[in-house]
Amino acid sequence: MTDRTSIVDLRSDTVTQPTPAMREAMMAAPLGDDVFGTDPTVNALQEKIAALLGFEAALFVPTGTQSNLCAILSHCGRGDEYIVGQQAHCYRWEGGGAAVFGSVQPQPLDHAPDGTLPLAQIEAAIKPDDAHFARTKLLALENTLGGKLLPFDYVQAATDLAQRKGLQRHLDGARLFNAATAQAAQNKHSDIRAEARRIAQCFDSVSVCFSKGLGAPVGSALLGSREFIARAHRIRKMAGGGMRQAGLLAAAASHALDHHVDRLADDHALAQRLAQGLEGIEGLAVEAPQTNIVFVDLRGAAQARSSELLASLNRQGILATGLYRLRFVTHLDVDAAGVDRAVHAIRGFLNA
Ligand SMILES: *Cc1c(COP(=O)(O)O)cnc(C)c1O
Repeated sequence: MTDRTSIVDLRSDTVTQPTPAMREAMMAAPLGDDVFGTDPTVNALQEKIAALLGFEAALFVPTGTQSNLCAILSHCGRGDEYIVGQQAHCYRWEGGGAAVFGSVQPQPLDHAPDGTLPLAQIEAAIKPDDAHFARTKLLALENTLGGKLLPFDYVQAATDLAQRKGLQRHLDGARLFNAATAQAAQNKHSDIRAEARRIAQCFDSVSVCFSKGLGAPVGSALLGSREFIARAHRIRKMAGGGMRQAGLLAAAASHALDHHVDRLADDHALAQRLAQGLEGIEGLAVEAPQTNIVFVDLRGAAQARSSELLASLNRQGILATGLYRLRFVTHLDVDAAGVDRAVHAIRGFLNA
């Protein structure tokens, strides 16, 4: 199983290799020094993504984690707080960076089963202006969250509420284009960019990853007003995220925006294929996927066997993760045959 091509890697959509065309675009990119602001490929990418999502400005950053950190620290100062979901990446999965580096207090809320943060809970969590309390400054949502599309009317209502209460609004849209793909399908059209813009326009700042389903090797963008991005730029520098000939990476991101947005529907179809293949297996509960992530829970006698199952899959060249629940993620380096191999191997394990 050392041959890469025989591996079905369903751990994450971050594992994709740059395609030959993407590598060519990277090699051909004109480069400068982005710390001086003179890398033409970085500048072009920032302009392209800002125009695409309807913002004044954008900042290319190495990771989604740094993008969220720059966003939270640009919206909030020491002693401020942000309202966020218990499962949100920028609360649970970023090492507490906003608190560590910014002295910004998170106010986590439980999610409803559809991934939303109930409006009444958001409202109740906003602190009065009183010396006892941190200053509530920001609402941070994530879309998709755990592969789920937040209902658009919810996104509008929650961001309207935040605005009425004087809060800033940040979207962790690491998988914004997956959300937009699912939303376009719901609305029975295929203009993914229009849906991405509709979602993004509900927020003051948005972070998007190029390194997930879009298939670039590295990079995210943070979007906002010119003034917000100027603050984020300073924080990116403090965080050590000012890169030099970064156009090499921006070229990959730009290629991904041009060529890998309209194919995300294929990943969603493969996730459906995987979920359908696992339907009806004794000991498995499969959550119907809305995008490219399939969560599976082991039940009954199989419940305690998740590490055994992952090890068995691993021996057969099928990689997945199971930190809380078993998770299978489709992306541009998996195909129907790979998904069918995974289904076959899981079925074999549970029927043995
Ligand atoms: C992956 C991810 C990020 C950031 O990831 P990096 O690995 O730091 O690029 C942020 N938010 C969400 C929702 C993600 O899935």
